[in-house]
Amino acid sequence: MSLPSPRRIQGPRVVVVGAGIVGLCCALEIARRGGNVVVVDADAAPASLDSPPRAASFAAAGMLGAFSEALHEGPGHHRRLSELCADGLKAWRALAASDPELTELVRFDGALLLAHDEADAARVKRAADRAKRNGARFDLHDGLPSDLDARVYGAKVKLSARIHDEGVAATRPTLARLGEIALSYGASILRGRSVTEVTSSGGKVRGVSFDDGGNLPADVVILATGALASEALQRTAPSLARIAPAKGMIGVAIPPAAFDLAETVRTPRLYFWREEERLLFGATSELGRSDLDPDPDMLAALYLEVRRTLPGARFEGGASVHAVGLRPMSPDGAPIVGFDGPEGCIVAAGHGRNGWLLGPTTGAAIAALARGEAVAPVWRGFGPDRFAS
Ligand SMILES: Cc1cc2nc3c(=O)[nH]c(=O)nc-3n(C[C@H](O)[C@H](O)[C@H](O)COP(=O)(O)OP(=O)(O)OC[C@H]3O[C@@H](n4cnc5c(N)ncnc54)[C@H](O)[C@@H]3O)c2cc1C
Repeated sequence: MSLPSPRRIQGPRVVVVGAGIVGLCCALEIARRGGNVVVVDADAAPASLDSPPRAASFAAAGMLGAFSEALHEGPGHHRRLSELCADGLKAWRALAASDPELTELVRFDGALLLAHDEADAARVKRAADRAKRNGARFDLHDGLPSDLDARVYGAKVKLSARIHDEGVAATRPTLARLGEIALSYGASILRGRSVTEVTSSGGKVRGVSFDDGGNLPADVVILATGALASEALQRTAPSLARIAPAKGMIGVAIPPAAFDLAETVRTPRLYFWREEERLLFGATSELGRSDLDPDPDMLAALYLEVRRTLPGARFEGGASVHAVGLRPMSPDGAPIVGFDGPEGCIVAAGHGRNGWLLGPTTGAAIAALARGEAVAPVWRGFGPDRFAS
């Protein structure tokens, strides 16, 4: 492995609160540019936990569905979210190419979008249009693409689109690898420490304090707390209070032995993909629910939808819950990235359905803000001030 050696540590002391995909990408980018950064997370080392970590990033599917996400967007969405998602995919390609282990963990095998009626077909066309506008490779088919077995997918597919440039990250090992890379650039990661407060004086950030009475001085604090910000942190950075949890669940089943699936399959109601011998499928979405209890009825309904999408595939046995997590939903479904609260306090949260996709581009934006530099134009209009009125 050939990682560049860390640069001399310089610039403001930065603390990132939250080691989900967003916090880790922020820390990685800050450290890569030679910054002085410590990431803090309330969860202990995630790989060794018996109980699931609270971070949504561990529950997520890891789809890098920059264009497919058009299947799910409604009229209330931020009007420039699609542009940001396209930038997110580019940032992932660059990051994945920079490290051989990430190249293995983040695959760009594309997505197959299926429509079974006119309403779905309009959504699939919208996703294809988005791919076209962004110069991504795609093709549209009446019915199924000819290389797929109509006996497996059924005769009812009206329209399909292949978007060749999308990807999926193997979430848990990718998080572990991003942490290793951040460390190799000189970042520190403190786990099992819960931040109770961002301390400030004279209107400026001075650091963070922990539930065990300790504290850490800082000039800049990044709040990458997902859907899990405490009331105290919401008082410090009021835009965090605009983020609501949306409980989501991923299921797992055993696909038929001969079922070959290279790409992710998506409809407006579900997605599924193969990970070794397993078929993973998602996802439920319940806005306002903040528990992590598995829901067998919702799982059964989603599994039924998988089998309807593959009417000719014989599944062995039932399905079980793979993961449950809380998506951090902002009012317009787009991230909140920018200064909020005392001078030096920055919010990087509210990534909703797209936290994985938008992790690396968020990291680049935050690294610029932390150094007092301008963010890339694609990030204009995603600041906390858009909710001020
Ligand atoms: C079922 C499901 C499927 C999904 N699928 C996809 C997908 O395919 N593609 C995609 O792009 N996105 C997907 N998402 C969305 C994505 O997972 C989220 O947008 C993303 O994980 C948010 O990352 P985050 O780092 O902001 O928050 P999180 O991952 O929730 O991390 C926040 C971290 O902050 C820590 N924290 C909070 N408060 C404190 C404190 N006071 N002190 C210390 N630590 C603290 C928490 O412990 C946690 O580790 C999915 C989500 C779910 C639930």
